[in-house]
Amino acid sequence: MQQIKLGEVRISSLIERDGPVRTALAMFPDATPERVARALSKLPGFTYDAKTEMLVITYQTFILRTPTCTVLIDTCVGEHPGYHESLNYDKTPWMRALEAHNLTVEDIDYVFCTHLHIDHVGWNTRLIDGRHVPTFPNAKYVFSRREYEHWKTHESGAVGPSFAACVTPIVEAGQALLVDDSFMLNDQLSLVPAAGHSPGHVCVSLKSQGQHALFCGDMMHNAIQCIEPGWSTKLCSDPAGAAATRRRFFAQYCESDTLFIPTHFPAPTAGHVRADGDAYRFDFLPSL
Ligand SMILES: [Zn+2]
Repeated sequence: MQQIKLGEVRISSLIERDGPVRTALAMFPDATPERVARALSKLPGFTYDAKTEMLVITYQTFILRTPTCTVLIDTCVGEHPGYHESLNYDKTPWMRALEAHNLTVEDIDYVFCTHLHIDHVGWNTRLIDGRHVPTFPNAKYVFSRREYEHWKTHESGAVGPSFAACVTPIVEAGQALLVDDSFMLNDQLSLVPAAGHSPGHVCVSLKSQGQHALFCGDMMHNAIQCIEPGWSTKLCSDPAGAAATRRRFFAQYCESDTLFIPTHFPAPTAGHVRADGDAYRFDFLPSL
């Protein structure tokens, strides 16, 4: 994602992986070939591969540089042994990108996770001398308490071994802030409840100088879900609840300047949700 300026805050991203991953039919149980064809015809070409019809799913971390702190939102898959082979790709681009932003791990003040699925918590920790330790020694990590409590006692392929590797060590190190789903860090950063994809999924709201952005995690994985807001993924905890959350946010913000920044959307990533007939569309910000 190109750097965006939102009021006083500079937003950029670290990309861990980018490219087509799976088809809409494989991803959304409610999709049909006819509806997929109709939706793809409305999408910009960079959001799917025309030949295979696989949707482009980007794994990225957002960096926010505010006047008072440096913040990361969602931390991809990270470098951990024993994960499923589909997650066994080269992770070095992420660390190189952090360096390219002139940041060290010591510079990060806060890490927000929109939810605790395996591809949103990875770089929370690194394996050093056989132990998972916090990657960012000076950071507080903001987790929804509801989300944390749920995954402490439940299992899912969407979480797998990452709770033990990337969440528990943060709590044990005393670096976790386990907070309510409406937590306010300061005047600029707060959480907004957005359950459905996972039980304690939240959006991170950023306000600066009258401008507003929502880092909306996995509320949607691809812009096709604006055209078909009822389509939830196979891995959503509560598919109907996830669809209701999308419709609620889309209705609330479709006539506003609120910028949506979904974790898995390819560059330019950020955009506006707009009403389109009886559903919506995602208007990406123009590329510079
Ligand atoms: Zn997820």
